[in-house]
Amino acid sequence: MLNELTLSQLTHTLARREASARDAMQACLDRIARVDGAVKAFLSYDAPDALAQADAADRAIAAGADFRRQPLLGVPIAVKDVLAVKDQPLNCASKILGNFRSPYDATVIEKLRAAGAIVFGRLNMDEFAMGSSTENSAFQTTRNPWDTSRIPGGSSGGSAAAVAAHECLASLGSDTGGSIRQPASLCGCVGLKPTYGRVSRYGLVAFASSLDQIGPFTKDVCDAATLLEVLSGVDPRDSTSVPQPVPHYAGALTGDIKGLKLGVPKEYMIPGIDPAVDAAVRAALRHFESLGAEIVEISLPHTDYAVATYYIVATAEASANLARFDGIRYGARVEGTDPVALYANTRGQGFGPEVKRRIILGTYVLSSGYYDAYYLRAQKVRTLIRRDFLQAFEKVDAIVTPTTPTPAFKIGEKSEDPLQMYLSDIFTISCNLAGIPGLSLPCGFTNPKLGTGNSKLPIGLQLLGQPFGEATLLNLAHTYEQTTAWHREKPKLNP
Ligand code: GLN
Repeated sequence: MLNELTLSQLTHTLARREASARDAMQACLDRIARVDGAVKAFLSYDAPDALAQADAADRAIAAGADFRRQPLLGVPIAVKDVLAVKDQPLNCASKILGNFRSPYDATVIEKLRAAGAIVFGRLNMDEFAMGSSTENSAFQTTRNPWDTSRIPGGSSGGSAAAVAAHECLASLGSDTGGSIRQPASLCGCVGLKPTYGRVSRYGLVAFASSLDQIGPFTKDVCDAATLLEVLSGVDPRDSTSVPQPVPHYAGALTGDIKGLKLGVPKEYMIPGIDPAVDAAVRAALRHFESLGAEIVEISLPHTDYAVATYYIVATAEASANLARFDGIRYGARVEGTDPVALYANTRGQGFGPEVKRRIILGTYVLSSGYYDAYYLRAQKVRTLIRRDFLQAFEKVDAIVTPTTPTPAFKIGEKSEDPLQMYLSDIFTISCNLAGIPGLSLPCGFTNPKLGTGNSKLPIGLQLLGQPFGEATLLNLAHTYEQTTAWHREKPKLNP
């Protein structure tokens, strides 16, 4: 099955002319037709356009294209509904964008196309990337392919589920407070949030501009390295992108991690973590030791403040970023007797409850009288959180934690309790506040005979690195992956 291959396996197959890009694209479309009624990862896709791109890739291959220059040639890649793809719908899983279509390609989309990828499909997400379960989509709740009664994580739940269900070879998502790593962990794939500034955000609908990064979801670590190299680089259209040279990330996968020091923050291995997650992470640490790494206990003393800090900074920025959706410039419009009524009607009917909650919180923490007490203080704590990490990296090469405190929870389990939902982000948000890179990869499964209602659910391991230290993270993750078998497991999805 071509759709079940990794990205690198597919390009080898295409390069040897053992299959065509059209066959690969068709295999994904067939898979979507078969399973997406149950998974609900895709909001839409344009099959004729996808097949036309595949035919163009096949013509390029027939004309002798060089896969070293176009490492994604003929590879079907789907994207979260928050990235601009020319002439395709862009809704951020919200009703407020109406029938909007993007007039241009995001920089990451241009880069995917230049590398030969077939860019297709719009993947479901929490509305405006606010959430941890994809239940906040205005259109549908995506299901976890390992157990369709459970959430896939969020906000990039569609991106994770589509890769885990082999509906595409890889996907893109965005991570503001864990939205790549958390769903990757819960769906059993590899998810990478690059350093702030590593990847251009031009064409990404902004949620919280000081935290947002775009990154890949893949079936293995080697594919994550390949995609990161394609996506990275400075962009004059995003002034927060950094002119740091882009390494050959796949070349960093040496398999040698001897002598590397891995920090385990004592504030993270706390009671309250699901026992299966705790056991899998501890086993992974022992495995790293057996590969020659050294495990060191470290402290990140401001960890307790991360959730509160994040939910002040992120909501404040969101309240400003989402001001542009006013019924005048984009998408849906609900008329009113005067312009203020038009704004209120459009925003009142266009935004869902979680987005409204965030805008209200964000407006509140920025309002005069509360600015100093909340927003300014949160910015100061953010600096302390970043300092915790930079001090830790004076002693260790990377930090290892669980990605999430529990495996995938049931649909509906936390949707009525925003605080419980926010707390599920406890291990992923500090990374965004600090601007450092983070990667999640599979490190085990729950035992279906114990506790989790008879399903076998993936568990994710999070690796955090120094700013622009993605190569070290990828090498650690790849070495672990190649000496374990978790990434070869596939969900038994037979709807
Ligand atoms: N779950 C977090 C939130 O709801 C993270 C979202 C994200 O990274 N986009 O804000």
